[in-house]
Amino acid sequence: MPKTFLVDTTRCTACRGCQLACKEWHDLPANHTKQLGTHQNPPDLNPNNLKIVRFHEYLDEQGNVVWNFFPEQCRHCLTPPCVDVADMAVPGAMIQDKKTGAVLATEKSSQLSEEDAQAVQDACPYNIPRRDPKNGRLTKCDMCIDRVSAGMQPICVKTCPTGAMVFGEREELLPVAKKRLEVAKKRWPKAFLADMEDVSVIYLLADTKDKYYEFAAFM
Ligand code: SF4
Ligand code: SF4
Ligand code: SF4
Repeated sequence: MPKTFLVDTTRCTACRGCQLACKEWHDLPANHTKQLGTHQNPPDLNPNNLKIVRFHEYLDEQGNVVWNFFPEQCRHCLTPPCVDVADMAVPGAMIQDKKTGAVLATEKSSQLSEEDAQAVQDACPYNIPRRDPKNGRLTKCDMCIDRVSAGMQPICVKTCPTGAMVFGEREELLPVAKKRLEVAKKRWPKAFLADMEDVSVIYLLADTKDKYYEFAAFM
């Protein structure tokens, strides 16, 4: 069974510890950014940010301001379309680790033509891979495969101070996810587990996906 993350967004305070820890562990440099009127920074995933915390603010029916946070990363799909599409052009450019289920962009991804790299990006239902203009490699969350293979937790999970993220064996995590959903529904009746049957990074959302961002859930 693949490894699985549960990301309970109802517990996320948008501290961005996970975002920063991911950068530090992967030795990724800072980006030059501008203040765009939101705390979301940088504005999007990029080769230096394999994880970003998305912010979405809106007024509810009572006129109250609601702020939703979404720590975004690759979902490590159980049947990853990015691997299928990459294989048609450059076999091995994207692979799925059998033991953990981690979906990885390899050095071979730099051999993809512009069109083929775009096709891989377009195949992703969550709009995750980004191409590094410096070396042509596709970049995305690697499940901290080095840590996980050594029996450690992904650094974003280890860093999270609120318990919003949990990582473990799929068969152990699914009952935890369902239990958390049951509790969440008492306060947020529209809460749901996004695409639970298809992904290894399961998000518990308090509201419909449009209250987070375009690619928060596929179904
Ligand atoms: Fe591939 Fe996108 Fe699924 Fe990640 S989320 S495994 S990049 S298809
Ligand atoms: Fe980054 Fe590792 Fe978390 Fe993926 S699992 S978002 S690579 S820290
Ligand atoms: Fe949310 Fe935890 Fe990430 Fe902080 S570390 S932004 S609480 S998921």
